[in-house]
Amino acid sequence: MTSAGRFAPSPSGELHVGNLRTALLAWLFARSSGREFLLRVEDLDRARAGAEEVQLRDLAAIGIDWDGPVVRQTERSALYGAALRRLAGGGLTYECFCTRREIQEAPSAPHAPQGAYPGTCRDLTEEQRERRRAERPAAIRLRAGVTEWAVTDVLHGRYSGLVDDFVLRRNDGVVAYNLAVVVDDAEQGVDQVVRGDDLLSSTPRQAYLAGLLGYRVPEYAHVPLVLNSSGRRLAKRDGAVTLAELAEAGAPAERVTAALLESVGLPGSLPDALAAFNPAALPREPWVLDAESGRFLRDSTLRGR
Ligand code: GLU
Repeated sequence: MTSAGRFAPSPSGELHVGNLRTALLAWLFARSSGREFLLRVEDLDRARAGAEEVQLRDLAAIGIDWDGPVVRQTERSALYGAALRRLAGGGLTYECFCTRREIQEAPSAPHAPQGAYPGTCRDLTEEQRERRRAERPAAIRLRAGVTEWAVTDVLHGRYSGLVDDFVLRRNDGVVAYNLAVVVDDAEQGVDQVVRGDDLLSSTPRQAYLAGLLGYRVPEYAHVPLVLNSSGRRLAKRDGAVTLAELAEAGAPAERVTAALLESVGLPGSLPDALAAFNPAALPREPWVLDAESGRFLRDSTLRGR
């Protein structure tokens, strides 16, 4: 089995500097530990035509290389189906007919943690299920045996978080992210998951599910995001934030790479950054882009504060 890290973008549009910074970090983590580096396109949901091509081109332009062919989630439904059947065979799934509204309005079960699925459909009788099936298609949920699970993260240490009866397959038949990511990482030999720290709270669910499926739990490193000056996650409206926009503003890809590496305290060339890379020295705080990117890119480097 290979030992690999990965970057797994959703092809919903162009990558912005926050995504590119996470990709560089994932690459540095993998390469500095002698791992392969894989690219997986998470196109089950929100895929936009042409986005994948642009994303791959931009990743290559900032100096990232990867091993083997790019994998697409839409081509892997047999694997997800097999995992679902294994869970169902072990009595670990159930059909859920709740609408979003019903979930919001349901009284939460006693002792149920905030934000947890209230368990409405957990113990329906076969007769009740029959009736509900005629009304709407069912989603498939995990019958979780815990309410909390702990993971270890390279940057966050021990992190304990909610595990509820989360959705494995949506009622439109699309496999849920939490199932797909666990199956993909395990089946691709990914034993190191580096991604934005907005996903840290999903990690206990994923690690718990990996255990149920008999998979090895990967090493996790959730890296800080890039925020705009109002402290929100970087978005398209925040000025020049994609490689194409930055090039237009006078910052070619090499300069963006240098600026992103410097923003995590590393030398601005990728080989030098790789030689100097030390996970323990990475910043734990978000990087705030505090002006229109185009303006401070006229300096030698993108500056954060
Ligand atoms: N596809 C997810 C995203 O672009 C990342 C998932 C992951 O790295 O686990 O936000």
